[in-house]
Amino acid sequence: MVSTEYERRIAARFATLDQDGNGYIDREDFSAAAKALLAEFAVPARSAKGQGLYAGAEAFWQGMAGMADRDGDQRVTREEFISGAVKRLRDNPDRFAEIARPFLHAALAVADEDADGRVTVEDTARVLRVLHVPQGAARAAAEALDGDGDGTVTEADLIPAIAGYFTITE
Ligand code: CA
Ligand code: CA
Repeated sequence: MVSTEYERRIAARFATLDQDGNGYIDREDFSAAAKALLAEFAVPARSAKGQGLYAGAEAFWQGMAGMADRDGDQRVTREEFISGAVKRLRDNPDRFAEIARPFLHAALAVADEDADGRVTVEDTARVLRVLHVPQGAARAAAEALDGDGDGTVTEADLIPAIAGYFTITE
């Protein structure tokens, strides 16, 4: 089978969400990502930020399952991802931002140690590395997220960029 650019892009998005690489997206991928982020930034799970991140991870999973888990087995396979999530995101490009916003908001709060609403490019790259983006790509992506080049990334920079990444058109 010839792998098209479109298929390659879908495979990359699926791999990003399948954090443990076991071939399907499930709740564990989201909760493991939350746990890893809290460990990276030494934020206790029982803190307000920690609870917010776990709640955001659960909301993200529920949104993904609602779009794509057609047989209701609490797993999103690659086939379900393509036929459910990719198609629905194409029909409704705002949907990804809606389901991911609580998690991304909470992830930035975890990384934003001085709580000024801005995360340094370096700390943004740390977030992306924890989410299994390779080192060099994480740094480049973090720099790209800093649209105005002031060395920091805000929620307004992050959410549209991440949503755009996951909204794939042929
Ligand atoms: Ca998985
Ligand atoms: Ca399923």
